[in-house]
Amino acid sequence: MSLKLCQGTSCHTYNTKDRLKGTKENKTFQTRRRSSFYYGNGNFCSLNCQNDWFNDFGTKAIDHFGRLTEPKHLTEENAWSKRINWSTDYQNRQYFYRNEITKEQRPLTKEQYEDRNYTLNTI
Ligand SMILES: [Zn+2]
Repeated sequence: MSLKLCQGTSCHTYNTKDRLKGTKENKTFQTRRRSSFYYGNGNFCSLNCQNDWFNDFGTKAIDHFGRLTEPKHLTEENAWSKRINWSTDYQNRQYFYRNEITKEQRPLTKEQYEDRNYTLNTI
């Protein structure tokens, strides 16, 4: 299994015991390395590291990928949101799309619910 490095720009400066690596006389605090991380789409070991990255690069990233220059508007075309009917038991849990403007509901499969790229929104 390959290990990932936390992308936090200051991860190595948080001198926790688990970051201290190396042979006896050459131990240094190092960026965390794990098979998976919970934060920032699996890129950061902690919210602190995610925030450090954003403080250093967030503005550049927004400018690179496109800064909003006008407010977005909720319309029928982009008002679909994924929902779960929690009142049913786990085996029969129902997944559906609900349009927040028209209140229309459409069934979803579990796979469609979990697929972050699957959407009914057109704009
Ligand atoms: Zn980190």
